[in-house]
Amino acid sequence: MAKNEAKADSARRRMVIESIVEGRKMEAYAEHRTKEMNTCWMCETICYRKTPGQKIGEKWICIDCLRQMKESLDTLDEWEEELAMQKDARSQLDGDLGH
Ligand SMILES: [Zn+2]
Repeated sequence: MAKNEAKADSARRRMVIESIVEGRKMEAYAEHRTKEMNTCWMCETICYRKTPGQKIGEKWICIDCLRQMKESLDTLDEWEEELAMQKDARSQLDGDLGH
C-alpha cells in the first residue's frame, strides 16, 4: 500500500472511530435522561439496557462490577488464607522482636 493511501486509510479509520464515539456519547446522554436509568454505585456506569444492573439493597450495581465481585468471592477463601498467613507471619515476627 502506498504511503498516502495508508495515511488516508488511517484518517478514514479515525473518522469512523470518532463517529462511533460520538454515537456512544449521544446514547449515553439519552440513557442519562431516561427515568429508568440507574448509575452503578461502584463504577458509575449507567445501568440501562446495554449494561444491565441489579439493585442490591439501596445501591445499583452493574453487571460488570457484579462479575468482578463474583470473581472476588470465588477467590475469597484463598484470599482469607493468604491474609491469615500474613497475620500469622506478622504476629510471629512481632513475637520474635518482643523477646
Ligand atoms: Zn459498575
